[in-house]
Amino acid sequence: MVFFGYFDNMKNYNYEINITRPSTFYGSTGLTTGVTVNNQDQFVTNNYMDLVDAPIMYNEPDTTVIKVGETDILISVYSKNKTASAKELARDIQAILELQKNYLGELPVKKYAFIIYLYSGKSGSGGIGALEHSYSSFYYLPEMAAHELSEIIVRIAAHEFFHIVTPLNIHSEEIGDFDFIHPKMSKHLWLYEGVTEYFAGHVQAYGNKVNPEMYLDIIHEKLLGAEQFKDNLPFTEMSLGCLDEHKDQYYNVYLKGALIGLCLDILLREQSKGKVGLKDITKKLSLTYGKNVPFQDDELFDKITELSTPEIRLFFKNYVEGDQSLPLTEVLQKVGITFKKNVTTKEITLGDITLGGNPETNRLFVMNIENMNAFGKKLGYHKEDEIISINGIEISLHNAQKTIENIQKNTKEGDKIEVVIARKTNGNIKNKKLKGKAISIEKTRKYLLELNKNATEQQHQLYKAWLGQNE
Ligand SMILES: [Zn+2]
Repeated sequence: MVFFGYFDNMKNYNYEINITRPSTFYGSTGLTTGVTVNNQDQFVTNNYMDLVDAPIMYNEPDTTVIKVGETDILISVYSKNKTASAKELARDIQAILELQKNYLGELPVKKYAFIIYLYSGKSGSGGIGALEHSYSSFYYLPEMAAHELSEIIVRIAAHEFFHIVTPLNIHSEEIGDFDFIHPKMSKHLWLYEGVTEYFAGHVQAYGNKVNPEMYLDIIHEKLLGAEQFKDNLPFTEMSLGCLDEHKDQYYNVYLKGALIGLCLDILLREQSKGKVGLKDITKKLSLTYGKNVPFQDDELFDKITELSTPEIRLFFKNYVEGDQSLPLTEVLQKVGITFKKNVTTKEITLGDITLGGNPETNRLFVMNIENMNAFGKKLGYHKEDEIISINGIEISLHNAQKTIENIQKNTKEGDKIEVVIARKTNGNIKNKKLKGKAISIEKTRKYLLELNKNATEQQHQLYKAWLGQNE
């Protein structure tokens, strides 16, 4: 274990780190200042902040470098049991980064490193996750096969990588010159984390890479999640107090924070007749400021207003600095999306059983039948039954949710439903067909998001501009 620190007033000195390593080891990092002589590596950083912002992983290397635009992307994996390799992960990471490059126009960094440590057995700290840095992100995840890992890493990478926009190139003094002894927060977490998370979702819908319904699902998840947090706590206040007073509200930066990004993006598009979106504004901001020029915490809203219109200032005043609930109905309606709360709909039921997942068989199983409805009773589920297929369509853990939703959508009342299950009786497992006629029941949905098929031409144009369908 090595600790790096600094004496008072020496935070801004140059740091030179010399590392003597075993000759078979390689140090993976986002730093571009490395010089190697024999088995000695030397790294120089401008100051302490840059040093702690640049993890270096030493191990017998499994690395690969891919090119995205002009940027070199290093992917480095440590896996004791070699469950996944850098090469396998590179393909999926490349795909999402290409998408992000097209979204941003160009990438503002020359080198970026994905440093991935896969632990075997129990997690050392009990936690898992990823940490963003300016030129790298570090992943600490359990060992698993590359195809499973890819999905997780791509999802996290989409977020972490967008931090090259903010805070890397747009940040306030509090963040740029971080006081490690008396940490002070900026009030703009809505930007650093909220907008970053918004981009991570929006990039997938932008230019039609995922269909609009799937994107509405992403928004829906944010809505449901944000409900667990205080809606009337001004976001700027939460941000300032996120290390102490409002610590328990922090996670909302990824939920309501992303919804703030959503509203802002649509409003900016509306105000500019479709021409300018949130990503264009952040680009302008990063040209005004950049890595070495922080903004004053208090000037940011006005600065964004200068780049847009007074309506945007009003939005910040009411919904980010103020305590009003986001005007989602009104904003989404501008792009022809109907947003409703507490809507009762009729849905085809599969019996109101509680399902769990069995990773060994890759199937869903019946976990609980306490609330089973008449249809479930008609089919006659038993606890522990494993679902093999519904109406001939195989259900695996991987596709379960989407497949079941599709089956429900395409089934009408009175249609035959046939569920093939695997049931254990007296130690033997046998497949069995459960049959019934479909019935629908009333379901109340907390939130309903729908594309309005009768949207006006104006709404449709703004929708297209917002999702990049004009380019
Ligand atoms: Zn983040």
